[in-house]
Amino acid sequence: MSSSINISELVRTNIAKLSPYTSARDEYKGDKGVFLDANENPYGTVNRYPDPYQCELKQVISEIKGGDAGQLFLGNGSDEAIDLAYRIFCEPNKDKAIVFTPTYGMYEVYANINAVELITLPLDKVFQIEEGLVDPYLTDENVKLMFICSPNNPTGNLIKRETIIRLLNQFKGMVIVDEAYIDFSSESSWLEELTQYKNLIILQTLSKGWGMAGLRIGMAWMNEEVLYYFNKVKSPYNLSIINQQEAIKLLQDKTGFEQRIAVLLSEKERMIKELSSLSMTRFIYPSEANYLLVEFDQADKLYQELIEKQIIVRNRSKVVPNTLRISIGQPEENTQLLTALKAIQREKESIIYR
Ligand SMILES: *Cc1c(COP(=O)(O)O)cnc(C)c1O
Repeated sequence: MSSSINISELVRTNIAKLSPYTSARDEYKGDKGVFLDANENPYGTVNRYPDPYQCELKQVISEIKGGDAGQLFLGNGSDEAIDLAYRIFCEPNKDKAIVFTPTYGMYEVYANINAVELITLPLDKVFQIEEGLVDPYLTDENVKLMFICSPNNPTGNLIKRETIIRLLNQFKGMVIVDEAYIDFSSESSWLEELTQYKNLIILQTLSKGWGMAGLRIGMAWMNEEVLYYFNKVKSPYNLSIINQQEAIKLLQDKTGFEQRIAVLLSEKERMIKELSSLSMTRFIYPSEANYLLVEFDQADKLYQELIEKQIIVRNRSKVVPNTLRISIGQPEENTQLLTALKAIQREKESIIYR
């Protein structure tokens, strides 16, 4: 247990002192009665405010994920939890956070919004954390957060467990492990480790594996002491009734979920095989997620040529030279991409041979 970490000392003073807004429904918990307390309109189907703590949805999620509903924060996307982490722990223009690049861009966006200086440490050649680079910051009292994305977006690899364990033990701030793609991964979640580390926050989402990006529901699992602050800082009704109900409904179909994951993983294998056979492909990075980072000859040009054929992939050439990040789609969509790539390759070869 990282018992040397004192959470209440780590949070910003204004947040520690904050008395949160208490909604009418915080004071009366029952669901039977004549509700004349919240200035709601008595008519309609969505006229009541939603449960601010999303108890029913948390119960469903905790059964699926095997975590404790009492250690779960739900946000309007896991992006909300990223923003809240900065707002809870980082004093603007004073505190800092660490990210390992290339990685998910929102850590930087929210750092900038919250006026938090970002320490950007490059991952090594195989996209692992270079522990020597982090060491100087582990006991810096102004460094409050560290984001570890695993499987990492856009590179697709998992970050080594031993590295994360060492950082959890030695870092004096919060370690946020972003598991947005864990449903596609061969390794298990960090959730089982939550009781061991007070400074661990695990981000997950219904957006990717569960296919509910449109609902905007993200999970953040954390020690109860940390959760207290997240609940204090969040907007009271951050998830709408419609979103909560739709998620509860869709989460019932565990079999469908597993089947779709299996299809996506087998499509990923097919894409790896097919892409490797193209002469324009230089390298396909190993992926534990639902996308492939692929190095091509002239990725920028290829990206444009695909756009012309109305096939949109993500150009990551600015962060990893000459790469496109390709999400795994439905089999038919993947085939369309492959057909387009083959056509582009044939055009190129016919120019060369002419
Ligand atoms: C997609 C993604 C998220 C965002 O999830 P939302 O719950 O949709 O906000 C978070 N982290 C990473 C690494 C992602 O790729």
